[in-house]
Amino acid sequence: MRDPVSYQRHAVPDSTAVIDAESGNKWTYADLDRAVEWRAGRLWSLGLRPGDQLGVLADTAPEFVRLVHAAWRIGVVLIPFNTRLSESGLREQVQRVDLAALVAGEPHAKRARTVATAPVRSLSTLDDEPVAEFVAEEQLLDRPRTMLFTSGTTGEPKAVVLTGRNLLSSAVASAFRLGVLPTDRWYDPLAGYHMGGLAPIVRSAIYGTCVVLAGRGGFDAERALADLHERDATGVSVVPTMLSRLLDSGDLPESLRFVLTGGAPTRPELIARCERRGVPIHPTYGMTETASQVATARPEEAFANPERAGRPLACTRIRAIDGNEPLPTGEPGELVVSGPTVMQGYHDDPETNERVFGPHGFHTGDLGSVDPDGSVRVLGRIDDAIITGGENVHPAEVARVLRSHPRVEDCAVVGLPDPEWGERVCALVVGEASAAEVQEFCEGRLAEYKHPKTVAVSDELPRTASGTVDRGAVREILSERSERPE
Ligand code: ATP
Ligand code: MG
Repeated sequence: MRDPVSYQRHAVPDSTAVIDAESGNKWTYADLDRAVEWRAGRLWSLGLRPGDQLGVLADTAPEFVRLVHAAWRIGVVLIPFNTRLSESGLREQVQRVDLAALVAGEPHAKRARTVATAPVRSLSTLDDEPVAEFVAEEQLLDRPRTMLFTSGTTGEPKAVVLTGRNLLSSAVASAFRLGVLPTDRWYDPLAGYHMGGLAPIVRSAIYGTCVVLAGRGGFDAERALADLHERDATGVSVVPTMLSRLLDSGDLPESLRFVLTGGAPTRPELIARCERRGVPIHPTYGMTETASQVATARPEEAFANPERAGRPLACTRIRAIDGNEPLPTGEPGELVVSGPTVMQGYHDDPETNERVFGPHGFHTGDLGSVDPDGSVRVLGRIDDAIITGGENVHPAEVARVLRSHPRVEDCAVVGLPDPEWGERVCALVVGEASAAEVQEFCEGRLAEYKHPKTVAVSDELPRTASGTVDRGAVREILSERSERPE
């Protein structure tokens, strides 16, 4: 197998491969193939060879797409870094891998140079390199193609190694559930450094269909809605908060065949809204370690059972286990996944790999159950991270900051349901500080979306019999107090 674009140049040379919604520019597969060939030569002349790791710190723009396919063409493992990371977060991730080079888009080049462990090239000056003759790899399916970092909800982000087989199997399985038409145009407002944003780029090339890249600077619902209409999008991948903002902004185009929502639970109210408005919502469960979707509901399934994320995709098995024992249908336990999209493992982390692979597959760390018809319910994390507006907030990080306030003795941070953001961060605090002081203290110490939106002060934290903080009781106290602000 070679990179997907090298097949499409023969199969569908005149079909549109990429549309950049921001500039309006378009590339056919013949155009994209030429650009990829040229870029692959540049990478080769930098000394990159099959199996080398190439980091990229860039916006999800056409240049990023070319780099994805060029790396694939010469067998280089692409590692897209999150452009929103702080300098220390980025440094930490760069040091965890073995980069042969790091390519950075213009706004990110300075930061890349500060943290790099390998030569840094700016995406634009890559053009100045001489084009070299290179050898396109006849690639084995089980060689790594990309490494992506998880979102870091339950701790430090982990580097997930994905092979050609993982990406190809995921594209095929997704197509069985969603269907593919030669006229498809998949609108992608998610970042390419997350699996959900990279998937439409890779899959469209595998299908020979078109990916429409959204604008760069963050999600703007009005603009996304206008793009969806103008480009006659047939599919879109979003997190639930984005969908709810899109629906606030107006009606989605009739051209849409599927609206894939995942990364966080899709609340039943949002699904009911979609039913009323005729939106073809496909609630989805997936993760970086499984190259994205592993279960997806069709709209009629979602409308009938809004609590479920659908049945597993083709060739994928999802079970709930307790210890290593599969549980009977309907009983909640840890969800485990097996199938061809499951990663080889985390990079350079034998201990974690030992822990997360068991006899029934990959241990997701998610709590859920499997219904008699095979559909999956995801009940939450086994640990208790908060997902607000599609962003993951780890309670421990917020709690650490709050506890550093001189007049806060202790605190517990939990998420409460929020109609706009999915969940909002809330804190129960013990100490002399007032709620307002605690909120003010977060300014400059935590990203805005991590600030507790509700803070209540109490004499003590409720605890379980074994002395750990009773998170359920904390939630109850906070939801009562937020309805009745002091
Ligand atoms: P980390 O693994 O570093 O803690 P993360 O798990 O948030 O971060 P991702 O791979 O981006 O990193 O997210 C996958 C997770 O998102 C799943 O394991 C699950 O907890 C959550 N998730 C995805 N889809 C759904 C869904 N439909 N309902 C509930 N949770 C979901
Ligand atoms: Mg995870």
